[in-house]
Amino acid sequence: MAPHIAPIKTSDNFPSSTSVVIIGGGIVGLVAALTLSERGIPVVVLEKGKVAGEQSSRNQGWVRKTSRAPADVPLAVAADRLWADLPQRVGADVGYREAGILFLARTQAEMEPHEAWIRSIEPFGLDSRLLTPSEIDRLVPGGRASWAGGIYTPSDGRAEPSLAAPAIARAAMAKGAIIVENCAVRSLVRSGGRVAGVVTERGEISCDTVLLAGGLWSRRFLGNLGIALPTLPLTVSVARTAPMEGPTEIAVGGPDFSFRRRADGGFVITQRSAVKAPITLDHLLIGRKYLGSLKSQGRYLRVAIGRDFIDDLALPRRWKPAGVSPFERVRIKEPTVDEGAIREAFVALSAAWPIFEGAEIAEVWAGTVDVTPDSLPIIDHVAEIPGLVVCSGFSGHGFGTSPAAGELAADILTGSTPIVDPQPYRFSRFGGRRADA
Ligand SMILES: Cc1cc2nc3c(=O)[nH]c(=O)nc-3n(C[C@H](O)[C@H](O)[C@H](O)COP(=O)(O)OP(=O)(O)OC[C@H]3O[C@@H](n4cnc5c(N)ncnc54)[C@H](O)[C@@H]3O)c2cc1C
Repeated sequence: MAPHIAPIKTSDNFPSSTSVVIIGGGIVGLVAALTLSERGIPVVVLEKGKVAGEQSSRNQGWVRKTSRAPADVPLAVAADRLWADLPQRVGADVGYREAGILFLARTQAEMEPHEAWIRSIEPFGLDSRLLTPSEIDRLVPGGRASWAGGIYTPSDGRAEPSLAAPAIARAAMAKGAIIVENCAVRSLVRSGGRVAGVVTERGEISCDTVLLAGGLWSRRFLGNLGIALPTLPLTVSVARTAPMEGPTEIAVGGPDFSFRRRADGGFVITQRSAVKAPITLDHLLIGRKYLGSLKSQGRYLRVAIGRDFIDDLALPRRWKPAGVSPFERVRIKEPTVDEGAIREAFVALSAAWPIFEGAEIAEVWAGTVDVTPDSLPIIDHVAEIPGLVVCSGFSGHGFGTSPAAGELAADILTGSTPIVDPQPYRFSRFGGRRADA
């Protein structure tokens, strides 16, 4: 089941040429489209299913600097500014509130990474700070668990996934962008090795440059062109409650639960230590690249071999532009909800804050994230194919940075001064790019 998002009317018009084609109508591709159209550059967004039908509507809406890799902090800081200005820019409320984010630790061992992170981000002058148990009680009253401490960033916040991507899409269209849904891009048209257009299920569009913002599908798209993008799929299950009283407006992450207030008065809840790794061929092919980072997160991962393995194998890894591509076969990825993980979250959360004992679950869903070996996205030219830029691999935290990440992708496409130093996001950091490497 997919969460509800504000409906938008996209284009029935299918152009034969443009300046920039964006593959993927998730929030990253949409921000890039808005930025380019504000700069007067003709742009067409092609989405195989529905705008924001995958990660960009299914996420929890946390806009966070806390616990980000230091290299990713400048992008998150730039994104905060853009989120604050977004309602005026797009002429709509996107639910952005600077309501703070707090992570809790049950033991001193769980506090240690927070202490190390605070030291590592000193040069940025963020307002993040460690909290004592009594400060946690004051900020989030009514609890009955005992905490070793926490880490809190008042300037972190939240936005509503159900509002943000549709509002950005509408604003981009008002500035001249064309957005086409139910239109998979099968491959690229090349001339002398350079991008000259895209082949879609509805025909070709000629263009000067292409931005690949296909989320977890970018790996498969590039793989068909002989280029390996190292991202692995992991699945997270989410519940939304009916409107209810709650202990705080701050978004709170405990060791085995998380909750954040929604604009409609309900809460979004997950089991933070139940990220599912539904094993696919890619996990076997490139899983070893993740061993370092997975070791530290091992207790969060639940490895499962099942239907996903078969379904994934059945999807082609190589196809011809004239044939049906995997993107037409899976219009919207609909992962199975882990009901057990959701029950665990409510049990852990109610034990910590009894007010959640009365929570009424209004909706549940799951989403699949695209994780890179160092948890940073790739926002860079694809050196082998001049005219192609990729912006994917947000590793489960790209909603918060999307206003800056989409703008950075637009800067790279057009050769403009980048909004932040793109160095941490370069493709070459993973070494060889031969497909299936
Ligand atoms: C359950 C869950 C919770 C999360 N919580 C948070 C959070 O609290 N905070 C945070 O910052 N991030 C969070 N994230 C991550 C965040 O949602 C993503 O990083 C972000 O939405 C990525 O946006 P995107 O545009 O790159 O990808 P997507 O939203 O996945 O969009 C990519 C789009 O490209 C389309 N596409 C792909 N290939 C093709 C093709 N060949 N032709 C046409 N269309 C194509 C797809 O259909 C898709 O719509 C969460 C994610 C999930 C799933």
